[in-house]
Amino acid sequence: MLKSLTDLYEEQLRDMYSAEKQLTEALPKLAEGASNADLKQAFRSHLQQTRAQMERIEQIFKMRDMGPGRKKCKGMKGLVEEGAEVLEESNKSAARDAALILAAQKAEHYEIATYGALRAYAEMLGETEQARLLQTSLNEESETNELLNQLARTINSKAQSSR
Ligand code: FE
Ligand code: FE
Repeated sequence: MLKSLTDLYEEQLRDMYSAEKQLTEALPKLAEGASNADLKQAFRSHLQQTRAQMERIEQIFKMRDMGPGRKKCKGMKGLVEEGAEVLEESNKSAARDAALILAAQKAEHYEIATYGALRAYAEMLGETEQARLLQTSLNEESETNELLNQLARTINSKAQSSR
């Protein structure tokens, strides 16, 4: 039962852990399906970051003497399904790359929203070290989103000039 900010914090930590886990399974498929070498590389390096982000949440679980439970993040499940749909409905092309960038940016925005709230809750609860760990992951998600923005500039215009 959700009754306090602590309950909400712990529930959303578990949700985020599930979200990151689902992304570690999806990112290799996105990298595989991308044509642009820089985009492939971006997905691969974000896979490494995502693993580190899971480890940060594991550290927080330890500090709080709690576990991930069996919670499945439904939001990320839907976003991952949308990414899979892009791969099913297209062949390798700049248009597919543009669609993969958007699918990935939707996931990044979802993560940015949750990490931002989690960091704020940790601060409210006086959990300075946990807030710091969450801020580190939040920064990585923002940087990834910015990198995807940059790649979109080139890739969208490639998609525009092909048909
Ligand atoms: Fe992440
Ligand atoms: Fe991410």
